[in-house]
Amino acid sequence: PVGAREIASLTPMMRQYLETKALHPDTILFFRLGDFYEMFFEDAVRASELLQITLTARAKGSDKVPMCGVPYHSARRYIGRLIEQGLKVAICEQMEEPGNGPGIVRREVTRIITPGMVLDDEVLEPRASNFVAAVHWSERGFGAALLEASTGEFFSVEAPSAQDLVETLSRVEPRELLVPEGLKAAPEVGFLTSRLSRPPPVTEMEKAAFEPARATTYLRNHFAVASLEAFGLAEAPLATGAAGAALRYLKDTQKTPAAHVDRLSRLERAGHLLMDESSRSNLEVLKTLRDGARKGSLLGVLDRTATSMGGRKLARWLASPLCALPEIHARLDAVEELSGRSVWREELTTILKEVADLERLCGRLSLGAGNARDLRALGVSLTQLPRLGAALSRCSAPLLKALAGPLGALPELAELLTRAVVDEPPLTLKEGGLFRTGFHAELDQLVALSTSGKDYLLKLEAREKERTGISSLKIRYNKVFGYYIEITKANLHLVPKSGEYIRKQTTVGGERFITPELKEYEEKVLTAEEKRCALEFRLFEELRAQVVAAAPRIRSAAEAVATCDVLLSFARSAAEYGYTRPTVDDSDVLTITAGRHPVVERLLAAGDSFVSNDVRLDATDAQILVITGPNMAGKSTVMRQVALTVLMAQAGCFVPARAAHIGLCDRIFTRVGAADNLARGQSTFMVEMTETSHILHHATRRSLVILDEIGRGTSTFDGLSIAWAVAEHLHDKLGARTLFATHYHELVDLAREKPRVKNLCIAVKEQGGKVLFLRKLVPGGANRSYGIEVARLAGLPQEVVARARDILQNLESGELDEAGRPRVTHRKGSKVSAGQLGLFGGGETGPVAQAQGAPAVPAEHLKVLEALRSTALDTTTPLEALNLLARLQKEL
Ligand code: ADP
Repeated sequence: PVGAREIASLTPMMRQYLETKALHPDTILFFRLGDFYEMFFEDAVRASELLQITLTARAKGSDKVPMCGVPYHSARRYIGRLIEQGLKVAICEQMEEPGNGPGIVRREVTRIITPGMVLDDEVLEPRASNFVAAVHWSERGFGAALLEASTGEFFSVEAPSAQDLVETLSRVEPRELLVPEGLKAAPEVGFLTSRLSRPPPVTEMEKAAFEPARATTYLRNHFAVASLEAFGLAEAPLATGAAGAALRYLKDTQKTPAAHVDRLSRLERAGHLLMDESSRSNLEVLKTLRDGARKGSLLGVLDRTATSMGGRKLARWLASPLCALPEIHARLDAVEELSGRSVWREELTTILKEVADLERLCGRLSLGAGNARDLRALGVSLTQLPRLGAALSRCSAPLLKALAGPLGALPELAELLTRAVVDEPPLTLKEGGLFRTGFHAELDQLVALSTSGKDYLLKLEAREKERTGISSLKIRYNKVFGYYIEITKANLHLVPKSGEYIRKQTTVGGERFITPELKEYEEKVLTAEEKRCALEFRLFEELRAQVVAAAPRIRSAAEAVATCDVLLSFARSAAEYGYTRPTVDDSDVLTITAGRHPVVERLLAAGDSFVSNDVRLDATDAQILVITGPNMAGKSTVMRQVALTVLMAQAGCFVPARAAHIGLCDRIFTRVGAADNLARGQSTFMVEMTETSHILHHATRRSLVILDEIGRGTSTFDGLSIAWAVAEHLHDKLGARTLFATHYHELVDLAREKPRVKNLCIAVKEQGGKVLFLRKLVPGGANRSYGIEVARLAGLPQEVVARARDILQNLESGELDEAGRPRVTHRKGSKVSAGQLGLFGGGETGPVAQAQGAPAVPAEHLKVLEALRSTALDTTTPLEALNLLARLQKEL
């Protein structure tokens, strides 16, 4: 916005601003000026709007430059808000004390905060991970890397297609996507972001950063290894490139060596229960569909963790349950042991509550951003670990026992930190007061010197008062003069004339003096104080370095704490919600006895009780369950509860049922309502069919498929035909265990043709013309639509309800019109055909009112029809047929 000529006319400070801004064009530049961060030009306009702060102006020659600012001590809050909006903030600090020499203060961008690069615990959600994802691709497929700056977690993935990559990315919901320069608008990027439930902002990075050979060298240097084989990156150029770019982004924006990023693991799809993003959101695993809240989701119900590390891990476990029996059994064994021992649970929880967020503390300190409070919190937390380890080693479940190892690895650091840092250290690092007396001999001496010096000054003040007889005499301090003696005007005549009082300054109220003695002590006090602060800062940095050196062990311990916390949380839910241990094996069955929906049962109003249900699926004889029943009967609930039960079991959690036998599932597919995609501008039916086709292409015999009201988005006959064909395909070709809820009662007939299809319906009872939902799943198909009753309950006008009853009755009585369509009695007695009502007309449904006054079929036509119907054509000769035609024509 500013031309070269104008720049020449700017103040040096504004020039410095513009030069800095030019290096960071895609950020909002927070430019430190004294106690404020100031923004100028467009940044100011934008930020003032987003942050609701006042936009002012600064004179620039004859023009005015828009400007706004926030106080540095409350900047975090404002930065947080900008990040939330997907913006980036570059922090430009003063690198030297102002006023020390000519010219303007040197300033530098010390850190760039982006949605994917947040370290501040005031901005981070404690229980949510904050990943940045670097992605690139070639004709061979996709490579990605996921990096959590605040904890140092670092993963790589390769995926054959964008769809497969979405499955992985959606598990962690990255907050920012990094792509090679020039590709922000590529269709691949559009696909990825549109499929994530929270589309992340996209940042471009120089292409070279993604280049595999360059990335390999970069990663090898960072991890100080000769080869990347141990990280599973030997044959993975795409993942390697992405990992290199992600790590570079962290180091470049945070300007640190990022020592806490000490490992890189390959995320394998094998070994996990796969779920696409739409299934995960349909099942409301991590958040609700309606408002994206954690409350009301499966995670919301199951999260009983005591630490945020546990909270994040639990979310991860639910987002990617396991598909390997030994791991599942190991978790279930652990949960079983803890669920049976409430005393142990309480003991472990008490300890866990004392453990702060080790991962993020360690991350902050490693990135050079922590303060003494972080060291203190780390020390206190680490002190708890041996106790936790001891408690866990008493357990017999191998998974719990194994956690004790990493917890015992840091006693020296724990001791050092707690011995060093005071209980409530200040936030600032350069003003001393961080360390305990007794921790460091030299520091103790300096402290003694500066305090004794201060004592001496007090005594001096008293002495001078007495000597001069000026009771208002005061020794004060300011930055320019140091210590001085202040004497009010009225007392100036009492100042000793002997020469040691040297006048320094005259003020409104009096005069300021120094004395040689005062200066001598000032020297002692100030140098001691200065030395003390410098020493404390050095000691702090030394301690921080020790923490960084121990980062790998802290990370392992944090991992163990988180795992313990999640298992404990599972055990707590098991005990308090009445869950049972599922049997998980590699059979083909899925039997749930008296199962409940984990979330719905918790949200029911007081007084309502959840009706449990039995579901038995078996790939060999009950592979597809067709569930019919009116709307609101509970079809979706029972289907979702089956999917959630499988998910919970494979995550290692107990399940809401009296008993459950679950043959391992490789994938869960759901196709339920498409309301969320509607907002993205796709037609409901198109979305529905795209998802269905995805299922039919990917489901295996091991998969669990949940189809809710498939074919609803199109006309009746279309929809029914598609639903039927899909069910057949699942039965004949795929063999996947399937729950199929439908309002097409015709689908009930499928069970007659296909041996592994079974019908179930949700029982309803009629009572005094009303429908009572019993919520009980029973064998057989529902034979009537109770939709009208539901419509009545929903308050449709009485006459519409009555009319609908009429139409239904006639449709069901099977009375047909001349076109073979069910005949419908008009309320006033005349007959109309259903075709005219538009109910069976291939989708052109029209308002029922159109049928009003439609003509009745004349009686003679009926006679012709009857004659035609009763003619046996296969025994009729051509001549007879001709005669018949002639006779019928006369009848009309
Ligand atoms: P459908 O899919 O048949 O239209 P839903 O599964 O959406 O019906 O269920 C409608 C409502 O009924 C749910 O919101 C839930 O509160 C309640 N409900 C469903 N199943 C049960 C049950 N087994 N016990 C108690 N309430 C239930």
